[in-house]
Amino acid sequence: DREYVGFATLPNQVHRKSVKKGFAFTLMVAGESGLGKSTLVNSLYLTDLYNNRKVLNAEERIVQTVFITKHTVGIEEKGVRLRLSIVDTPGFGDAVNNTESWKEIEDYIDQQFEQYFRDESGLNRKNIQDNRVHCCLYFISPFGHGLRPLDVECMRALHDKVNIVPVLAKADSLTPTEVRRKKMKIREEMEKFGINIYQFPDCDFDEDEEFKQQEQLLKDSIPFAVIGSNIQVESKGRKFRGRLYPWGVVEVEDPAHSDFLLLRNMLVKTHMQDLKDVTRETHYENYRAQCIQNMTR
Ligand code: GDP
Ligand code: MG
Repeated sequence: DREYVGFATLPNQVHRKSVKKGFAFTLMVAGESGLGKSTLVNSLYLTDLYNNRKVLNAEERIVQTVFITKHTVGIEEKGVRLRLSIVDTPGFGDAVNNTESWKEIEDYIDQQFEQYFRDESGLNRKNIQDNRVHCCLYFISPFGHGLRPLDVECMRALHDKVNIVPVLAKADSLTPTEVRRKKMKIREEMEKFGINIYQFPDCDFDEDEEFKQQEQLLKDSIPFAVIGSNIQVESKGRKFRGRLYPWGVVEVEDPAHSDFLLLRNMLVKTHMQDLKDVTRETHYENYRAQCIQNMTR
């Protein structure tokens, strides 16, 4: 009984050619250390990318600076191939000196644009590997009163370069009421501080009701409340991905417990192509225009 990620089931907005060639998609996770970034990524793609990770002790963590790692996996589903890369940014926000900890993330995104720009102007334009970052899941702590100054600074530094999708981490540590309140607070603060997150495209008039409702649900769910787990839990004769507590279990994929499914569908089924389009048409175009301007100055 194999679990499916689901990207092969809805590629109808994608051209046949790209389906045959396979998708390449790069997802970045960013945010404070310990919020469950690596765990969520595993839960999203069902592949244990981090099985040989090194567990750092507290002392190591404090002196650790931001370093960026990239893992790539190939997944095939029903004949459709996905080359998925995850860019992890461990320890962010954890260092003693946080002032420039997001700078490295920003540089990384710029470097991928730079590489693409160079390849595009080179001789071998047909076989460019696209390493541009298509989406950044930004993890917000469930324990604060909304956004922290560092969150604001970081998202503002990145929002012109990458599609930011904010998530409320470790939602299992909050009650449903707290989740609703925090979401509202965070949305208000993002508006107040002028943070431009990824915008779901507006629906066409001829779109059916179900689709429109789904899009509205996505918009209303920001930041997506998520729960990550790498373990299978068994309860009442059923096995599922979940977290075990003395008082019961939470199921990662239960919509009543978290927005995990909503987020996963959005990323791998319904909006993967749009995230790539916006990266190319907006973020990369900005970068490119700037490069050309600098060259002709
Ligand atoms: P990262 O530093 O952001 O990559 O965080 P990790 O994925 O390494 O997780 C840090 C710790 O939090 C681990 O002990 C995880 O088991 C735990 N954790 C991860 N996701 C969740 C979650 O959704 N809820 C709870 N309660 N704990 C989580
Ligand atoms: Mg991690």
